[in-house]
Amino acid sequence: MFFNRAASKTGISKDYLEMIRTCDNVIRFSIPIRRDNGTIENLTCYRAQHKHHKLPVKGGTRYAPDMDLQECMALASLMTFKLCIADIPFGGAKGGIKFDPRLYSQKEIEKITRRYTMELAKKGFIGPAIDCLGPDMGTNEQIMTWIKDTFVNMYGESNINAEGCCTGKFASQGGIDGRTESTGLGVYYCTRTLLNDASFIKKSLLKTSGIKDKTIIVQGFGAVGYWAAKFFQKDGAKIVGIVEYNSAIANEDGIDVDAAKAYFTQRGTFIGFNGAVEETSMDPTEFMEKPCDILIPAAKEKAINQDNCDQLQCKIVVEGANGPTTFRAENRLEERGIIIVPDMLANGGGVTCSYFEWLKNLDHVAPGRMNKKYKEKQNMKILETMGYRLPKNSPHMKNLAGAREIDIVYSGLDEIMSEATKEHWDYAVANDLNFRDACFGKAIKKIHSHFEQSGLMI
Ligand code: NAD
Repeated sequence: MFFNRAASKTGISKDYLEMIRTCDNVIRFSIPIRRDNGTIENLTCYRAQHKHHKLPVKGGTRYAPDMDLQECMALASLMTFKLCIADIPFGGAKGGIKFDPRLYSQKEIEKITRRYTMELAKKGFIGPAIDCLGPDMGTNEQIMTWIKDTFVNMYGESNINAEGCCTGKFASQGGIDGRTESTGLGVYYCTRTLLNDASFIKKSLLKTSGIKDKTIIVQGFGAVGYWAAKFFQKDGAKIVGIVEYNSAIANEDGIDVDAAKAYFTQRGTFIGFNGAVEETSMDPTEFMEKPCDILIPAAKEKAINQDNCDQLQCKIVVEGANGPTTFRAENRLEERGIIIVPDMLANGGGVTCSYFEWLKNLDHVAPGRMNKKYKEKQNMKILETMGYRLPKNSPHMKNLAGAREIDIVYSGLDEIMSEATKEHWDYAVANDLNFRDACFGKAIKKIHSHFEQSGLMI
């Protein structure tokens, strides 16, 4: 429905739109796994490659009990548009396995992951030039490293770039510094750009610009939610609510994000956390309805729906999760003047950083490594030419040093997220479109012009 609404405003012919909408390749297969107790289970696996106009395709790997093919295809197409918006030269994909990893041992998850990778490889659904897997809900650095290890064991001798078959790996296993926090950091960069834009402040219910003193509620305190909350807090915002699946906490004066994370990681619940004024385990979702400036749904799909949208008291929504707002809920929120910063823009930081990781794998050298020392010497020489000489132990020496991997990742992410945000917000204003329609519409137009220029192969 979101696609159709945006597509109808692009002026592009229906046949082209249908071609852009559909998934190019989709597979579903099952794999057997022998559990630790000796029983055998069959797990259903998926991978959808939405558009091959740019290769490789790229997208997350989800381990979740409610996974299905349609969701996989929808998320794969969302990836295409997300990549287009961030101007990253990949097509979109998504995949995963229908099971709850919390109910399986590490040994079982490793077996499942390796078998899934082998089957994808046999079917041409993984590889640095074809399909680059990333992490998503239920998967992590360990799982991505097992995927890489399996693929490298199968093809490493004939494919020097085999490590680039997936991203989100441990930094010491071909991963990149900053990937863990990248999506949350991207959510922050995107919001910061908007909150410093006079036209956004004027159109939104927010009365003042800047991040400082803004009140924020985060739903989902995992990779995206925790890191986003941390960066907002660092810049002076107050995290006034955190909502998890089994508990929620609130404090108008702000919650210490790291203390809350440490408590939740240790106990698996927020109940008893002493940095909160209110807590609940009855219906945590209700805490999303408390007053705040910015609501960040960062858990799963349909968190904002027709049952709760009228009760929300936020001024803007920034979608950290994929698909957290339903079509109807968006319309209702829009009627009340609540602007939604869409997922395909706001949470693009993760895949942007994954792109950096893939580039690092293909380069076979970490960003900055070749010229870091050179840059430091060059800076010293410039100072000396100007008549200054810094002693080796001077605290200013660090300002002369060349960029480390993490510096390059953060600055690249800042550049891509801030530029994409500005470009798409300006497009929304210039064409009097809602923000999601503007992002979708511009991305659809880019893909359309790609096919117009390159042709359709036949
Ligand atoms: P995660 O598994 O690290 O965290 C999700 C958190 O949400 C967990 O703490 C979980 O307990 C919580 N949660 C689950 N159901 C909930 C509910 N009903 N109410 C409140 N909390 C609930 O996953 P993640 O990687 O942070 O991904 C979250 C969302 O962001 C997903 O939609 C994912 O597709 C999207 N996303 C993730 C990335 C990434 O890089 N990790 C990138 C782009 C988009």
